[in-house]
Amino acid sequence: MLFTTHLLTGAGVGTLTGEPVSAFALGIISHHLCDRIPHFDGGSIYPLVGKDEQWKPIHWVIAIADVCIGLGLASLLIVQGLYSPSMIAGATGAVAPDVVDSIPWTRAAFRATYFGKKYHAFHASFHATAPLRQIYFGLGVQIVLLGVSLLYIIRGGWQ
Ligand SMILES: [Zn+2]
Repeated sequence: MLFTTHLLTGAGVGTLTGEPVSAFALGIISHHLCDRIPHFDGGSIYPLVGKDEQWKPIHWVIAIADVCIGLGLASLLIVQGLYSPSMIAGATGAVAPDVVDSIPWTRAAFRATYFGKKYHAFHASFHATAPLRQIYFGLGVQIVLLGVSLLYIIRGGWQ
C-alpha cells in the first residue's frame, strides 16, 4: 500500500489508544491489515519479483510523489493543530514496516538479520498488490482508506 495511505490510516488508528506505545503497535498492525487488501502500488505497474527487487524509474516516481503527498498532508494537519502524540506514534508505526523492509537503502541490512529475514517473509506473504488489470479497484481502495482516515482526523473524532 502507498506511504500516504499507511501514514494517515496509522494516524487514525493511533488515536484509538490514547497513548503512544500501544498506538505505535496498532500502527504496525494496521500496516499489515491494509497491505492484505488488494491495492495499487508500484508493483501494480511493474511487479517487483526476484531476489533483488530492483526498483525501476516508475517505482521511484511513484514513491517520491507518494512521500511528498503524505508528508504534505501530514504537515497541513500539524499546522492546523490536528495531531496528538498517539496519532504521530500510530503513523510512525504504520510506515515503519516499509521503511525498514521495503526501501532500497535499508532493506538489505534489515533482511540480513534473523528477525529481518523472518519478518520480510511474513510481510511479503501478507501483501496483496493488485495486478494492472485491477488498477482502478486498487486505486479506489487507497482513496477510500485515505478519505475515511482524513475525514476522521479532520472531524476531530479522536479528540
Ligand atoms: Zn507493507
